[in-house]
Amino acid sequence: MGKQLNSYQIAQQQVEEAVNKLGLSKSVFDILKQPVRELTVAVPVEMDDGTVKVFTGHRVQHNYALGPLKGGIRFHPDVTLDEVRALSIWMTFKCAVVGIPYGGAKGGVVCNPKELSRRELQRLSREYIRAISPILGAEKDVPAPDVYTNAQVMAWMMDEYSRFKGYNEFGVITGKPIIVGGSLGRNEATARGCTFVVREAANAIGLDIKGATVAIQGYGNAGSIVATLLHRMGCKIVAVVDSTGGAYNPQGLIPEKLEAYKKETGTVKGYPGSKGIENEELLTMTCDILIPAALENQITEEIAPRVKAKIIGEAANGPTTPKADRILTEKGVLVMPDILANAGGVTVSYFEWVQNNMGYYWSEEEVNTKLEIKMVNAFNEVYNMFKRHKNIDMRTAAYMVSISHVSEAMHVRGWLGDAPLEEKQRRIKMA
Ligand code: GLU
Repeated sequence: MGKQLNSYQIAQQQVEEAVNKLGLSKSVFDILKQPVRELTVAVPVEMDDGTVKVFTGHRVQHNYALGPLKGGIRFHPDVTLDEVRALSIWMTFKCAVVGIPYGGAKGGVVCNPKELSRRELQRLSREYIRAISPILGAEKDVPAPDVYTNAQVMAWMMDEYSRFKGYNEFGVITGKPIIVGGSLGRNEATARGCTFVVREAANAIGLDIKGATVAIQGYGNAGSIVATLLHRMGCKIVAVVDSTGGAYNPQGLIPEKLEAYKKETGTVKGYPGSKGIENEELLTMTCDILIPAALENQITEEIAPRVKAKIIGEAANGPTTPKADRILTEKGVLVMPDILANAGGVTVSYFEWVQNNMGYYWSEEEVNTKLEIKMVNAFNEVYNMFKRHKNIDMRTAAYMVSISHVSEAMHVRGWLGDAPLEEKQRRIKMA
């Protein structure tokens, strides 16, 4: 898997490249290369055996030029401050690329939720949200689920925040259960958005989505729903791996059955009719579409030369390293970057927040239609940028689109000084 790269440095590098390509001033990069605010908290939690364990948590706020801060909370043993910083940067540009009025933030708690009882998980969720509550609020910073957190965790967090406020503040958090202000379609939104982007990418390169072969790394919320939705579009899901093993069948796997099997056994490994497959084998196998839907830094410079997929749809955040990116571009692989490909989740989080603010709720069909419009428009904007410039990949194009929006907002807000904006520093108008 190669040496572990620092996601924060990677995110900074991606921003720098796009700022330079846009010809923006150094002050734009100086503002965007780091988060505006960081909070680290020590969270004491009473365990079921009566002992108290202190967990470390972070909430990092990157940039609020476009609106309130937005981003998920991750519960994972490998959470670091630098990782949360990188994820907060990606959130800023993810929101900007789909054109939703938010800045970027991210939260993380160093813990292994698989080793916590439900009661311990609830206490940790409540204590953490209380610890970071001074910087949260429906108009300030709005968390959501991320790796190993879900709607139930969001419900506990919303409840804790609301108790503390003395009134229900549904809009302080998104990804909630439907009964307490959640939005229909939110649970599937990251995956659904990804499938729209992959479908558009396939159209763009003349690949028939019907019958296209798909390999998926990660079978959690994003990966399993991408499998189901792409299967419905006519794709053949030939292989999946999760953290415990893999399943491969050249005839195609049935996602609904595979999900039921995983629910029962805790793994995709051993799914009837499939052969085992390892992580690296999956990433480098013959297929049309590869979906990394797990963690950061999976497609490295060692893996990239052997990738055979025509399209990569990054359902995960940061799965491809910059060196791997370059190799993939040279090979002509069309990479749908994370800030575009997985922006469906935060887009429907925005719809949830809008519904909370107005107290009126949309049907699932309305939500899905609005999501499709946002994702297709964002794809077209990024793809046009990609086509108009020589020597850039889709990731740089996505950063160029989103950085131009953020920098325009920073300019009109007066964060970049008083001097009139030179033509080259203006938002790049789409052709
Ligand atoms: N955690 C998700 C992401 O990385 C969703 C964030 C949100 O809905 O605010 O995009």
